Amino acid sequence: MNADLVVVGSGFFGLTIAERAASQLGLKVAVLDRRHHIGGNAYSENEARTGIEVHRYGAHLFHTSNERVWDYVHNFTEFTRYVHKVYTRHKGEVYPMPINLGTINQFFRTALGPVEARALIQEQAGELAGTDPQNLNDKGIQLIGRPLYEAFIKYYTGKQWQTDPKDLPAEIISRLPVRYTYDNRYFNDKYEGLPVNGYTAWIERMADHPNIDVHLNTDFFDEGHEYSRSSTLGQVPVIYTGPVDRYFDYAEGDLSWRTIDLEEEVLPIEDFQGCSVMNYPDEDAAYTRIHEFRHFHPERDYTKDATVIMREYSRFAEKDDEPYYPINTAEDRAKLLAYRDLAKGEKSMLFGGRLGTYKYLDMHMAIGSALSMFDNKIAPHFTSGQKLESGGVDA
Ligand code: FAD
Ligand code: UDP
Repeated sequence: MNADLVVVGSGFFGLTIAERAASQLGLKVAVLDRRHHIGGNAYSENEARTGIEVHRYGAHLFHTSNERVWDYVHNFTEFTRYVHKVYTRHKGEVYPMPINLGTINQFFRTALGPVEARALIQEQAGELAGTDPQNLNDKGIQLIGRPLYEAFIKYYTGKQWQTDPKDLPAEIISRLPVRYTYDNRYFNDKYEGLPVNGYTAWIERMADHPNIDVHLNTDFFDEGHEYSRSSTLGQVPVIYTGPVDRYFDYAEGDLSWRTIDLEEEVLPIEDFQGCSVMNYPDEDAAYTRIHEFRHFHPERDYTKDATVIMREYSRFAEKDDEPYYPINTAEDRAKLLAYRDLAKGEKSMLFGGRLGTYKYLDMHMAIGSALSMFDNKIAPHFTSGQKLESGGVDA
């Protein structure tokens, strides 16, 4: 076998491992991906008619407060000064999102200051005020009170997850900031921006090393190629970033995932909605949001004759669908623990990334966790013979 290390999956997790192993340890790395391109869900391409860059698997916004990750990614790309802002359209009116003083005052037709607004929301959170709820429904009400929750979160979350918000973990909603200022940046992170030459140029730079050999359209579980599961077993260390339940042939049952359908349309106008993302939190629209890709790169000289939009629909993932968002109900968490136990028994095999750990990871988290795995497990294994043990699915 012509590789010291096999990486299954060329998303940010797999590529970070491959890049570090090749450039820092001089290892020969084979990277497999069953898709026809590298980059996993962050892959983008220019729409054929307009040349506008579209993110094929849903809009991807890079943001991080992790200094190490921010330094690392600058090895491959520069970032624009894009700051993500989202608007939401409720009952024929457009509000800024996430919920901030502007949203609160517009919704209640008031001109409250921060202290008064906090008091109002606390009152509207009722018995949940000051508590620390563990499910999405109660957490949402505790954070923003019942009226705002029902307007902006309840139906949107219903469309996005089709799971009772009482059965969803509170972390999902805790991702969204609530601000008692007029700051309507979507993310709280210290750094954000979009790759100046697009995601694919960034991803290709990561894989561009003479020791990295990429094999596309290659599924780890298919026989008939030299890096399949049966050929690599016990021969060479493998980093697996595909779905963990698939790896164990669903022995402990299927983990539940959400997938999304993206309906793309090219419109013969310069600008459709005036911003990159408009959310639709009401029941009357079946989609959760509309992305308009030209607004991610206002610095580019895109055509004025057309624009590209994508409506996003969310649904439960069946076996043949791309698994995107782990649903993470109590049942799923029990299955995940069982998979973690199984993973401990796998020799020379590490599980990582969003699919391999069944975790809602942003790009910077996937990269950060790959850098830690490289430092703590892969480098010590190759430089001083430390045993390569997964220690559970949670790398
Ligand atoms: P992935 O990117 O999923 O890569 C895994 C790769 O493994 C895939 O290419 C897959 O084809 C391959 N693979 C799986 N099984 C096999 C197999 N058997 N054989 C060979 N190859 C296999 N993050 C942000 O920071 N900001 C955002 O705005 C953002 N938006 C997102 C929107 C959506 C809709 C989704 C789904 C994710 C979003 N993310 C965002 C998260 C981001 O996509 C992930 O953090 C990042 O892609 C994780 O990288 P990964 O390498 O773990 O997984
Ligand atoms: N959410 C909502 N209304 C909104 C935006 C988000 O209810 O207008 C909830 C929803 O449950 C969603 C979660 O907040 O899953 C996290 O939102 P985010 O935009 O971070 O989700 P992502 O971009 O990862 O799909």
